[in-house]
Amino acid sequence: MDLIRRLGAVVGPEHVLTDPAVTVSYAVDWTGRFRGSAAAVVRPRSTEEVAGVLAVCNEAEAAVVPQGGNTGLVGGGVPLAGEIVLSLRRLDEIGPVDTLAGQVTAGAGVTLAGLQARAAAAGWAFGVDLAARDSATVGGMVATNAGGNRMMRYGPMRAQVLGVEAVLADGRVVSHLGGLAKDNTGYDLAGLVTGSEGTLAVVTRVRLRLVPRFEHRVVALLAVGSVATAVEATTSLRREVPSLEAAELFLAEGLALVCRVFGLPRPFAAEHAAYLLVECADHRDPEPELARAVGRLGPLVLDAAVATEPARRAALWRYREAHTEAIATLGVAHKLDVALAPGSLPAFVAEVPAVVARAAPGATTFLFGHVGDGNVHVNVVGAGDGDEVDAAVLGLVADMGGSISAEHGIGRAKRRWLHLNRSPVEIDVFAAIKRALDPRGILNPGVLLPPR
Ligand SMILES: Cc1cc2nc3c(=O)[nH]c(=O)nc-3n(C[C@H](O)[C@H](O)[C@H](O)COP(=O)(O)OP(=O)(O)OC[C@H]3O[C@@H](n4cnc5c(N)ncnc54)[C@H](O)[C@@H]3O)c2cc1C
Repeated sequence: MDLIRRLGAVVGPEHVLTDPAVTVSYAVDWTGRFRGSAAAVVRPRSTEEVAGVLAVCNEAEAAVVPQGGNTGLVGGGVPLAGEIVLSLRRLDEIGPVDTLAGQVTAGAGVTLAGLQARAAAAGWAFGVDLAARDSATVGGMVATNAGGNRMMRYGPMRAQVLGVEAVLADGRVVSHLGGLAKDNTGYDLAGLVTGSEGTLAVVTRVRLRLVPRFEHRVVALLAVGSVATAVEATTSLRREVPSLEAAELFLAEGLALVCRVFGLPRPFAAEHAAYLLVECADHRDPEPELARAVGRLGPLVLDAAVATEPARRAALWRYREAHTEAIATLGVAHKLDVALAPGSLPAFVAEVPAVVARAAPGATTFLFGHVGDGNVHVNVVGAGDGDEVDAAVLGLVADMGGSISAEHGIGRAKRRWLHLNRSPVEIDVFAAIKRALDPRGILNPGVLLPPR
């Protein structure tokens, strides 16, 4: 096929994979819910090669799906209709840390864990962290504007991005990697590309800000009687503990599943309705400050486990971070990542199981998330292939004034419901931006923008 030959001329024939036995792993998402096939998987090594690949595809009007670590949870990074997969994983070079500026330039294929290690070695840290850190890439995290479990302190990926280098659909390169903290010279193209889910340009390199690396950390797991109490406690801790970095929520059913699947001991003798996991980090020991603030919560806290030593801290985090993997062992989950105002969160959590039961009788619901950001992950197992559950839950979110996507993006999974959060005028503007940057519509068709 002429297209395959031309792509091989750009990246080397050995980096154009067409054997279905090899390409199959690129054509199914992490959840197993989105599964398709790829005409080919192309693996460029440099920005120039990405530019060459896109120029060829644009000319041939061949659809391209950019892919990083393939840990996305909304089906945005997998080909469903025989598209070309553009794998960015080989763009894994990371520059030296600019210790004076507290910045680093990373290739799109650098994993989050690799970035964190590079920052730590230079006495800095990176502000975003998430459980898929060993596979998720910088390019994918920029494309999805990933949030993660430190978002309440440092903001999402967008807040870390000082500039991007990206390739437009026609192969032209835009690059703005100077890293100046103040730089009001026109439109913020990096901000536009961040969160665009591979529909506007392909990210090849990113200039990232780093944050202080704190040597003292404390993690506390607090048992509470309800989600409302967890929300109230989070607000108190945010107000009183400046070193608070994370506040995560999970419920009794999720904890029981995690303990069963991974053989973990239960954290407390008794079972409780809800659990709040908090982490504080500072240059001096934050434990006394956290202990005083937890003490002031009085009877709201029914039990507590505290850890400062790394292995014990990791053991407490495991109860929260293992939720996604534990749920995956039950089958294909409908993943609905949503955000509510703190005042609406308890009512939402209370109402969801009944809404799910009406839409998909017999399905099981697990709820957990980043409570510090009002972000709940609604995971529904046993709901079948249809999207009745998605419609019902996202409808409830919109009725309660929430966001149908807190941090995972719209992808393929939610494009039908974008109108719940975005007006017709906003969606028209989105489409106009898309046409301006990708007039032939080759970049991730079927993702983010609603079907016409
Ligand atoms: C166990 C687990 C925990 C998770 N926890 C969190 C969490 O706490 N917070 C959170 O926000 N997410 C979380 N995620 C989701 C996922 O890790 C993030 O969305 C992550 O940013 C995806 O990175 P990736 O490299 O795997 O991207 P992919 O899955 O490969 O792609 C995601 C999207 O980005 C596009 N894309 C990828 N690379 C590029 C590029 N270089 N240029 C342009 N577009 C590109 C793709 O086309 C697709 O639309 C979790 C996932 C798992 C499996």
